Amino acid sequence: MNTKNIFQKIIKKKISAEIIYQDKKITAFNDISPRAPIHIIIIPNNFIKNINYIDKKNLNILSYMMYKSIKIAKNKKIHKSGYRIVINCNKNGGQTIPYLHIHLLGGKKLQNF
Ligand code: AMP
Repeated sequence: MNTKNIFQKIIKKKISAEIIYQDKKITAFNDISPRAPIHIIIIPNNFIKNINYIDKKNLNILSYMMYKSIKIAKNKKIHKSGYRIVINCNKNGGQTIPYLHIHLLGGKKLQNF
């Protein structure tokens, strides 16, 4: 299975994942290898390879992903203690899955960088 397909299969529920939210536009699920007590991945249901492929035409989906990430942070009650939203891009950015995704991390004091 190629790595892009992992996230596509999660959306279609062809491989199991702890999906915590899904609607017509996005899917959010727990990271399989969490780096924090809360570590959720938020992806668009329609494939976008990485943030370089955001342009004027599809900008709405990125703001929607951000909006839903904030909603999830509030639902998980980490909005007051704080959290981090990360988007890795390509090799130097540490992107291992070539499918645009937001990492929502919280539930502990994260290391500064
Ligand atoms: P990145 O390194 O930014 O591309 O992030 C990819 C993330 O996807 C990593 O944090 C992985 O732990 C996570 N991941 C990979 N496969 C799965 C899976 N099957 N279910 C949930 N999370 C996954």
